Amino acid sequence: MIEVTLLGTGSPIPDPERAGPSTLARAGDQMFLIDCGRGVLQRLAAVGAGANQLSALLLTHLHSDHIADLGDVIITRWVSTFTPDTPPLPIIGPPGTAEVVDATLRAFGHDIGYRIAHHADLTGPPQVDVREYTDGMVWDHDGVQIRVAPTDHQPVTPTIAFRFEHGGASVVAAGDTVPCPSLDALANGAGALVHTVIRKDLIELLPQQRIRDICDYHSSVQEAAATAARAGVGILILTHYVPGIAAGTEDDWRALAASIFDRQIELGDDLHRVQVHPGVCTRSHS
Ligand SMILES: [Zn+2]
Ligand SMILES: [Zn+2]
Repeated sequence: MIEVTLLGTGSPIPDPERAGPSTLARAGDQMFLIDCGRGVLQRLAAVGAGANQLSALLLTHLHSDHIADLGDVIITRWVSTFTPDTPPLPIIGPPGTAEVVDATLRAFGHDIGYRIAHHADLTGPPQVDVREYTDGMVWDHDGVQIRVAPTDHQPVTPTIAFRFEHGGASVVAAGDTVPCPSLDALANGAGALVHTVIRKDLIELLPQQRIRDICDYHSSVQEAAATAARAGVGILILTHYVPGIAAGTEDDWRALAASIFDRQIELGDDLHRVQVHPGVCTRSHS
C-alpha cells in the first residue's frame, strides 16, 4: 500500500487555509516529500512526522511555490537530527536543482555558521545528496522503486513527474503540466495519479493578464481528468487548486472531473489522505 497525503493544496497565492504545494507519499517505512511549498513542515507535523524522517525530497520543478520552504526542510532536518552518521538527505529533481540547493545553503550560511559555532555536536553544514534527472529509475531501495519522466510546463523546463511502486501498488505524482505523452506513459495503469489543476473557466474571467497567463502551462480539471482516463489510472487525486476551492463548491470541481473520468476522484483540504492499494487499477492502456 502507498499512502498519499496532500500536505499543501494551495498555490502561489497565500491562503489562510491551504499550505503551498506539497504531497507526502509513504510506502513501507519510507517517506517521500514531493515538493516543499510554503508551510510544509507545519503540515508534516500535523501528520506526526518531521523533516528528520524523510527518506528523500523530490522536486517536480523549480517554481517558487513548489520550493518555497526548501531551506526550512534542509535546515530543520539538520538541527533536528540527533543521530551521528545520518546519511545526507537525497534531493531528487530536474537539472537546476543542484544550483538551487547550493544557493539555498549559501543563503542560510550565516545561520549554519551560528549553529556550528554554538553546538559542539554540529560539526559541519547540512549534508545533502542532490541528483538531477529527467527520465528513468531514480530510486530502488527496500522494495520501493521510483521512476521519473518529463512533463510539459513550458517555458518552465525541464519539469518531471514521479512514479512510485511498492508491493504492487503504484502512484504517479505529476507537478504542474499540460497534458503530454510522456506523462500519459508514466501514469499508464497506475493505481493513482496526483495532478495539479487550475480552473481555467474561472481564471480566464480575471482582469489581470499576468494571472490569465497561467492557463497556458497548467492543466484544467478536465484536462487532468482526461490524462487520468487515457492512462487508465484507478484514482485521480487533484491538488494545487487555483483558485482555492471556495467553501461549498467542492462538488463543482468533482463534477468537472467526473464528466471525463468515471472512477474514484479525490480532492479536498490540506491533510486529505488517500490509501492506494495493489490492484486498485484493473485496466491498463498501452
Ligand atoms: Zn509551476
Ligand atoms: Zn505550481
